[in-house]
Amino acid sequence: MILRKSFPAVAVAALLFFAHLSLAQVDQRWKPNDPDRPLPPVITPGTSSTQDAPGRSPSDAIVLFDGKDLSQWGGEDNGPAKWKVTDGYMEVVPNSGYLHTRQPFGDCQLHVEFAEPVPAVGESQGRGNSGVFLMGLYEIQVLDSYQNKTYADGQASGVYGQFPPQVNASRPPGQWQWYDIIFHGPRFDSDGKVLRPARVTVLHNGVLVQDNVELSGPTGHHERPAYKPGPDKLPITLQDHGNPVRFRNIWVRELGEGQ
Ligand code: MG
Repeated sequence: MILRKSFPAVAVAALLFFAHLSLAQVDQRWKPNDPDRPLPPVITPGTSSTQDAPGRSPSDAIVLFDGKDLSQWGGEDNGPAKWKVTDGYMEVVPNSGYLHTRQPFGDCQLHVEFAEPVPAVGESQGRGNSGVFLMGLYEIQVLDSYQNKTYADGQASGVYGQFPPQVNASRPPGQWQWYDIIFHGPRFDSDGKVLRPARVTVLHNGVLVQDNVELSGPTGHHERPAYKPGPDKLPITLQDHGNPVRFRNIWVRELGEGQ
């Protein structure tokens, strides 16, 4: 970027601040290969899932669902979560309402596994529809997109209404699939102006499908809602779209500044 001399200093400061909020930068307090630089915490990594069994979460993750109960989740209007739990998974009970985490989350790494109903019933958005809503506002679509045509920004792993996935990496219904999501929520100044928009990266079954995309605001159906200032953390939500989609092995790692 070329900055003319007349470029107001306040605008330069705002740009630098924005850049700082957007991307991690090299920390100039440390020399390259500095032996005094603090070491990262040691954790035990998780294990990969298979079709037969869910993997283990990393040791520093918050487990949101381990196949046993819905203690980390609430239902509509802060009532109980009404989805079915059986055989190590939870299943949407149609028209029982969305689930939301008891704890709010903002910037995070989120792992979610799901399986689409067998046999496949319905077409387009009516087949195996659910969703993972980051902060309850930004939907990563869950859909049976295996040989099921729908609009591009509404298929599985799309940022609903905004970004189609780069490829369709869907597995057939009945097979376990997973999303690994890296999310950075929006930030607002004291006047409610957007300092940084939300960004999301998604891997679907290990394939990169959303590469650090910048969201235009909350996701909407046939609309592009604008950002509204709010807290840095809100509950993660799972959608009841009337289809008996299954979920298992859900965990989250909260991210600090600069990660
Ligand atoms: Mg949905």
